[in-house]
Amino acid sequence: MLSKAQLQDLSGAPVPPALHLIDGEARAASDGTAMDVISPLDGAVLTTMARGTPNDAKAAISAARRAFDDGRWAGLAPAARKKVLLKWADLIEANAVELAVLGVRNNGTEISMALKAEPMSAAGTIRYFAEAIDKVYGEIAPTAPGTLGLIHKEPVGVVGAIVPWNFPLMIGAWKLGPALAAGCSVVLKPAETASLTLLRIAELALEAGLPPGVLNVVTGEGAVVGAAIAESMDVDVLVFTGSGGTGRRLLEASARSNFKRVYLELGGKSPNVVFSDAPDLDEAAKVSAHGTFRNSGQVCVAGSRLLVERSIHDAFVEKLKVHAEAMKVGDPLDPETSAGAINSERQLAQNLRFVAEARAAGRQIVTGGERILQETGGFFMAPTIVAGVQPGDAVAQHEVFGPVLAVIPFDTEEEAVRIANDTEFGLAAAVWTADLSRAHRMVRAIRAGVVHVNTYGGADVTVPLGGVKQSGNGHDKSLHAFDKFFDLKTAWIKL
Ligand code: NAD
Repeated sequence: MLSKAQLQDLSGAPVPPALHLIDGEARAASDGTAMDVISPLDGAVLTTMARGTPNDAKAAISAARRAFDDGRWAGLAPAARKKVLLKWADLIEANAVELAVLGVRNNGTEISMALKAEPMSAAGTIRYFAEAIDKVYGEIAPTAPGTLGLIHKEPVGVVGAIVPWNFPLMIGAWKLGPALAAGCSVVLKPAETASLTLLRIAELALEAGLPPGVLNVVTGEGAVVGAAIAESMDVDVLVFTGSGGTGRRLLEASARSNFKRVYLELGGKSPNVVFSDAPDLDEAAKVSAHGTFRNSGQVCVAGSRLLVERSIHDAFVEKLKVHAEAMKVGDPLDPETSAGAINSERQLAQNLRFVAEARAAGRQIVTGGERILQETGGFFMAPTIVAGVQPGDAVAQHEVFGPVLAVIPFDTEEEAVRIANDTEFGLAAAVWTADLSRAHRMVRAIRAGVVHVNTYGGADVTVPLGGVKQSGNGHDKSLHAFDKFFDLKTAWIKL
């Protein structure tokens, strides 16, 4: 358990200017420019970081290419890579509190969640893929007796990884774990508002024995650094988590350049469907509120569309309101806080616009709806429940990516399925019912990468996470995540 004193010590520590990590060295931007890192806790400048240029991206890609081609990492036995990665995971865990506090100061997630969901989750993910890599086999094809068909799994080469700000270490590790275990070299581009902890764990990777050049981190603007990685002729695979708009640009860049494979993990507007026969409606209300409002709703799988059977609608909304209002919003470095800051002022303004639009359309703001704690200088918003929402409303169709829950009533299972599937997204969903057959029918009927039953969130690294429809085209987590980082090569041999 974290003590307040321990947190206070770390939370005031000065943060040195952040530089890229290229070819095992800390490097300033090639033109010497840096950008301010604003803390969402108080709106003040936390530090600066290198504002990457296209040349910085090129230097990192060249370093990754050299590292891959000379076999300093890809050429090691899988068991040797495993050893380094396990040591890296240990170092991340040993530095977990420092990493969590730095991350919170950078991106605003409440510390109670950040500690588990960031360094500890990243360490667990890296360990999972490290442990798996010397248990992944090639195949022998079922050919006729006169031939031997061998299917080799070879690392794809240089991987570009572009990640968002909401859970930088967790999502970063979902890419880095399997890519590095497979033997690839990586150029990582963190989000503008959440780069510091990824830089730090990349330093720890060197300390663990990862050869220089195998993992490079270039900070700066997406439209500059991210775009240069996406356009590169020397990046073999691009893995991305972020918004649909950026995902579209990455696919276009791939088509314009070298047809690099592009795997996208995008947004969601996940339906959370509560039937009147849910085993425990109190539990359903509590988990639904927390599933939407933790990390101030900045969670890709957040159950931000709540579908409630009409017969229990009013009573259920009342329960939700109680849980939402009981959540402690504020200082993300206070271990008792249940929802921290909004990541940026821009994101906060966007959240408030969705609420204003719903209000103008006559929807009921059951609780919240406004910016709070403005006197701190930080970016905070009250958990917000909007009831009486129509399925076609903006607040029901667009990913707000903030603490805003849209509640829609339904009468029948068929109607629930229809509304649940009525968005462009298909990332996550949940169904609350004690009827086993109905639960399985709903799991089949809802188009989503994951459907929870009588719970929300918490699916661990053993299962894949990926979207359908416009939520994405690949999978993070589980052994399936390796598929992105291996090329299949056939050896066809006449005996
Ligand atoms: P974003 O698309 O704005 O940015 C993501 C990353 O892409 C950042 O590193 C950014 O610098 C970079 N980028 C921006 N423009 C770019 C460009 N033109 N070329 C190359 N790179 C560019 O997304 P965000 O606001 O950081 O993240 C929030 C989004 O991420 C939400 O939509 C959320 O649902 C999604 N998300 C999805 C998952 C998932 O697993 N499916 C998980 C977390 C977040």
